Amino acid sequence: MPSSFPKSCSSKPRPPLLSLTIIGGCAASLLRARLPLRLNRTSWQGLGYYTRARNLHRCGKMIVEKFGGRLPNDPDELKSLPGIGLYTANAIAVFAFDQSLPIVEANTARVLSRLFNIRAPIDSTSGRQKLWEASAKLVPQKGARDFQNAMMDLGALICTAHNPCCQICPVKKFCRADNPASLPRKRKRARTISITEWHCFRTSGRTILLERCRQRWRGMWMLPKIQQRNSAPIHRAQFSFTHHRITLEVFRGRSNRLTTRQRWFSCHQLNRIPIPSPHRRAIIDLFIAERGAGLHPQRS
Ligand code: SF4
Repeated sequence: MPSSFPKSCSSKPRPPLLSLTIIGGCAASLLRARLPLRLNRTSWQGLGYYTRARNLHRCGKMIVEKFGGRLPNDPDELKSLPGIGLYTANAIAVFAFDQSLPIVEANTARVLSRLFNIRAPIDSTSGRQKLWEASAKLVPQKGARDFQNAMMDLGALICTAHNPCCQICPVKKFCRADNPASLPRKRKRARTISITEWHCFRTSGRTILLERCRQRWRGMWMLPKIQQRNSAPIHRAQFSFTHHRITLEVFRGRSNRLTTRQRWFSCHQLNRIPIPSPHRRAIIDLFIAERGAGLHPQRS
């Protein structure tokens, strides 16, 4: 970093905690490919990206079964693996095997949109296509790994989202952006939709009834859904999921018949099964409120 680096340009890249977690999860998935998916979900809970956790596990299994335990280096073969699309396949091929391929991710998308003055929204089909074409034009035949690393660093350190440091930019003379701060453009965000979901808190002694999630948190365990409510909620919390603002209301459970998706768990088991964070927080708060410390599961 030059000694004259302006203050506004000295933002250090943040530690890629989530990326490290995902990479760690990936490696673990490969090692655990023969173990049940439940283990993978339990170590992943609270991090979000649950579909990725499922895909990583399927991916690990397929690498073992179809590719003899070795990650293929062909981008088309990589794309045949669950959860691996164009970006991930090319990123693996570039960074693991130094192949000359384009990459478009958040930092490079910003740099490319400015270098080529791309005014189409970068989250639109035409905008994405322009970015990939621009990246393909620039990537060298040799040294693509260093080139793509440099593009990411340029975006993270100099061509930043706010106040890009054009005065010290090493590619300034190639840059076509007439108003860098206005790029990249994005489509308008989807309107936030508010919804309320009702669940019940049903316990018996030191056990609690849970239900296997079907959609949003598929494979995890949550408080059972209910369709009707006859009393005031005993717990209320809000959380966001994609463009939804969800109000979780929990009511005291009644003695309906169990469905095939429902199961009783002891307090001790709760720490070993995957539970979505809003539901885990609700369970802990309700146990604390009802029975005092000592009986409730630990916060994770
Ligand atoms: S000159 Fe400015 S806008 Fe262009 S790539 Fe460099 S930092 Fe980004």
